[in-house]
Amino acid sequence: MNSARRTFAKALAAVDVVIEVTDARLPEASSNPMIEELRRFRNRPCLKLLNKADLADPDATRAWMAYYNARLGVLAVAISAKHPADVGRIPALAQQLAPHRSGAEKPLRMIFAGIPNVGKSTLMNALLKRRVAKVGDEPAVTKSQQTLDLGPDMTLTDTPGLMWPKIEHDADGFMLAASHAIGRNAVIDEEVAMNLGTILLARYPAFIKARYGVDMVGLDGEGLLEQVARKRGCMRKGGGLDLEKAANVFLTDYRAGALGRISLETPESRQRMLAAVALEGASL
Ligand code: GDP
Repeated sequence: MNSARRTFAKALAAVDVVIEVTDARLPEASSNPMIEELRRFRNRPCLKLLNKADLADPDATRAWMAYYNARLGVLAVAISAKHPADVGRIPALAQQLAPHRSGAEKPLRMIFAGIPNVGKSTLMNALLKRRVAKVGDEPAVTKSQQTLDLGPDMTLTDTPGLMWPKIEHDADGFMLAASHAIGRNAVIDEEVAMNLGTILLARYPAFIKARYGVDMVGLDGEGLLEQVARKRGCMRKGGGLDLEKAANVFLTDYRAGALGRISLETPESRQRMLAAVALEGASL
């Protein structure tokens, strides 16, 4: 058992509700299956927060909420940690999942869990209305575990250590890297951008056209990057297109939400991806 798993398993014994934070743009790729596995084993309900919903495609988010809300013991909601009204709903939602816990004698004990960069620190800060954790755009800022009072009858335990999932599918690694949930340099930006381009050309061609004014006919991920380089004047000193720079432009636009509200996966696309992986495995 690795240390994050051990710490989480131990912490679960003394909490009533697990609050799992994921990125609404890629809810499955940004979720560590260990959280669901251990909370089921311990029989703890889960408030599943699809955070950064302000950046995600509302239709995809609705589909994901229906998908997760069909699970036993799960209440899924889409929120933005940057919207105080959304954050304000969290304690009451958690309370719904553990109605037997109330009052100072039996405080509602919640634990925050999620992979790096999904917005846990931002949410904690907003919940506690004071800065208790450093918020950064780089992954892995929250490192230690702490329990804080959230009023007289509620406590909140910070995420126990780093909860990186074992990335089983390349598609997940690319989605995570594109959404900045993986440290820079971990994967080559160009490859990540081309992969993102392939997804967006299939799912959101109008956003690409509107942002870059590119000719879409026969365009693939690589072709898109070349066009972005041309349109944005990303040239190498000695001549030729600077695809690394173009990749940066494209990824920054996506991460900032400048292309529009985008989700990289839906329950259906996830199912298709898993079916393709299974088929590939069977034919090996
Ligand atoms: P943590 O590693 O899970 O604690 O993630 P952070 O709280 O450090 O957030 C990572 C980045 O995502 C920061 O740049 C935050 O400002 C940003 N972020 C967090 N929540 C939201 C949200 O709901 N919407 C948007 N647009 N950005 C968010």
